[in-house]
Amino acid sequence: MKSIILASNNKDKVKEVKEILKGYDIISMKEAGIDVDIEENGTTFEENALIKARAIMKLTGQITMADDSGLEIDYLNKAPGVYSARFMGHDTSYDIKKLEGVKGSDRSGRFVCAIAVCFPDGREIVKRGTMEGLIAEEIKGDNGFGYDPIVYLPEYGKTSAQLDPEEKNKISHRGKALALIKEELDKSEELYAEDNDSK
Ligand code: IMP
Repeated sequence: MKSIILASNNKDKVKEVKEILKGYDIISMKEAGIDVDIEENGTTFEENALIKARAIMKLTGQITMADDSGLEIDYLNKAPGVYSARFMGHDTSYDIKKLEGVKGSDRSGRFVCAIAVCFPDGREIVKRGTMEGLIAEEIKGDNGFGYDPIVYLPEYGKTSAQLDPEEKNKISHRGKALALIKEELDKSEELYAEDNDSK
């Protein structure tokens, strides 16, 4: 089976993708010996995932997968959206403060993840997964990362940072997008086609 390069340098993402796509030969950029930074200048999650996957596929000539994710807060016109990573590092309480006085379902938001796979023959797959929630009034929970402590999931009565990691992977935006990608990979004959570097 051919390898799929995962265009990410984030160790946790690589681990999660390898777990969900067990049975596929997923290799990280590090394992593939690639060290480049691709500028994500798209305006949607899908565009950014495709920009990364296309760039690494062109560089390596191998099947490449890339993702882009973030948080959309409806009251803030879907900010921080594709800029979520750029805002990280500042305190998440900043986002909560911008929603002072906003109540109930007006605090709606969601984590979004788009995953793209680009094949050397030009075929491209892109799928989106979301996890709907409400922006919490208080920061809660120690698990996860990024915005997890401010995303309250009403059906669980917890923030995303209060879920244990396995529980989160089952319902997360990334888990859902990956499951849709897996369905497509399962049907992809290119993965098994003979060529010189097939395993
Ligand atoms: P990416 O690595 O370019 O996809 O950037 C994703 C950014 O969105 C991260 O730095 C986080 O700020 C945020 N984000 C995406 N997914 C999650 C999640 O599952 N929990 C918390 N924050 C997330």
